[in-house]
Amino acid sequence: MAKEELECSFCGRKKPETNLLIAGLDAHICDRCIEQAHGIVIEESKQTDSSDLFAELKLRKPQQIKDFLDGYIIGQNMTKKVMSVAVYNHYKRLLQPITTDDIDIQKSNIIMVGQTGTGKTLIAKTIAKMLNVPLAIVDATVLTEAGYVGEDVESILTRLLQAADYNLEKAEKGIVFIDEIDKIARKSDNPSITRDVSGEGVQQALLKLLEGTVVNVPPKGGRKHPDQKFIEVNTENILFIAGGAFDGIERHISRRLNMQAVGYSASMSDEVVDKDNLLQYIIPKDLKDFGLIPEIIGRLPVLTYMDPLDSKTLRAILTEPKNAIIKQYKKLFTMDDIDFTITDGALDFIVDKAIEYKLGARGLRSLCEEILTDAMFELPSSNEKKLNVTKLYAEEKISKTTIKKLKAVS
Ligand code: ADP
Repeated sequence: MAKEELECSFCGRKKPETNLLIAGLDAHICDRCIEQAHGIVIEESKQTDSSDLFAELKLRKPQQIKDFLDGYIIGQNMTKKVMSVAVYNHYKRLLQPITTDDIDIQKSNIIMVGQTGTGKTLIAKTIAKMLNVPLAIVDATVLTEAGYVGEDVESILTRLLQAADYNLEKAEKGIVFIDEIDKIARKSDNPSITRDVSGEGVQQALLKLLEGTVVNVPPKGGRKHPDQKFIEVNTENILFIAGGAFDGIERHISRRLNMQAVGYSASMSDEVVDKDNLLQYIIPKDLKDFGLIPEIIGRLPVLTYMDPLDSKTLRAILTEPKNAIIKQYKKLFTMDDIDFTITDGALDFIVDKAIEYKLGARGLRSLCEEILTDAMFELPSSNEKKLNVTKLYAEEKISKTTIKKLKAVS
């Protein structure tokens, strides 16, 4: 073909009519057609966005979900495994074709029981990050029955809408983490005749949300009033994860275990009970004895527990997760061309202090901050380009008063 006869194989424009004509194997394409095609690609990918979740799900089997969690959460293997399966099943439920059989896969809302600072929120956050779905973290203690001072349970969905930038479709596939669920347990030993506004009433109000219903949500939060516009949110496909420390629940567990040992065969009492970690034996009945109403327990069918953090776990939390605290400091110092290193002795010292003063995993960060604040203040404007934190260095920066201060905030 002579040069002047070249034309776009898509729109037929001759080369002189185009700004650019790109040659392929057997065809040519002009700049305008490229732009148009590019627009189509963008549109198409937008449309497939909502099916991303499903593509994701095909890629991530429970084993892969757990592998992902392993990158961020140390230990807690039982919970990571249980959560991987629950999350996988939850999204499989969303994918289920409309079938003619009567099998209706039920929601797999989850309840995690474990001391504060053992990683409950972190697990919920990591799952939301992995699935790229909006996450709302709410504190059950602020919820009260409608009509009382506090927040209505609908405020939970306002938060989720906000987390989803008011994209309703996204919000309806999101995750809600309800922290401190134990604080709304029924206070059965409360002799007061006044209504239990922050206890059983809130549990009742939560029931519908957990099960799946259409809720009128005030988009900007606040109390419902007649002139307000509502957004209708369907909670059917929202995954609810509840967490709580359930302080004292071990008593119920151990009582139950003892009763079993007495009531059943001798071999039962022979079974070794790990008294340091009674939570691992938790069953739904213990939640009921603690004061959750059976209906709530029924709507949180996946029950799992968090292990207490021992020194080995705390040590690993400092350095191993993808965004481990020490890695974060290293990055901060590197931005100022400072070579930051920390000895094993110093790391062990930080862990020892966290355990000695019962500061938990949250305390690790505060301890590091105390140790490194002087260096982070001074080094960027000095010529010193190296910082090696030894046990001695760490000891010098941590005094009795700083520990007291840390204990007060943790
Ligand atoms: P919880 O919700 O159980 O009170 P968090 O998830 O808020 O605890 O944990 C507090 C912080 O402690 C987290 O942000 C994280 O830095 C650290 N942490 C706690 N447990 C773990 C863990 N198992 N693995 C990694 N980091 C952890």
